[in-house]
Amino acid sequence: MLVRHKGNLRWENIPILAYKEEGGCFKDITRQILFEGSGDIPCQLRYFEIASGGHSTLEHHEHLHLVVIVRGEGHVLIGDTIHSVRENDVMAIPAHAWHQFRATSDKPLGFYCIVNVERDRPTRPNQDDLKSLCRKPEIAAFIRS
Ligand code: MN
Repeated sequence: MLVRHKGNLRWENIPILAYKEEGGCFKDITRQILFEGSGDIPCQLRYFEIASGGHSTLEHHEHLHLVVIVRGEGHVLIGDTIHSVRENDVMAIPAHAWHQFRATSDKPLGFYCIVNVERDRPTRPNQDDLKSLCRKPEIAAFIRS
C-alpha cells in the first residue's frame, strides 16, 4: 500500500477532513488519515494541520498519542507544562494528561499523530478542571476552552 505524497503535506486520494465530528473548542485545524490500522499494527496514522492562530481542543483521555511535528512551530500543553515545539520534535502524550496544541507562530503547525484504532473518547474540562489548570498563570494564559 502506497499513499503518494502530492506535495505540501497533502496525499493522493486522502480527503482533508474536519478535525472532529463533534463539538468542542478548536480552531482552524484539519485532519488526514494516512493509515487505518491493520495486521499487527492496530494504529491510525493521522496528519493534523493547524493554521496560524488556531488550536486543537483541550482534552484528556486514556489512550496515548505519539506525535511528530512535521511543519512549522508552535506550543503544546502536556499535563501542566507548556512546551515550544518545532519540526521533528517527537512527543508522547501520556494517559489522562491534559493537552492542547496551538499554532503560535505565523506559520501553520503540522504534525503526525499515532493512536490506537480502539480508543476511548476524549474528556473536555469542566469548570473545576479549568480552575485547577488555571492555578498556573502561564497555563491560564495559554489554554483555549
Ligand atoms: Mn487527544
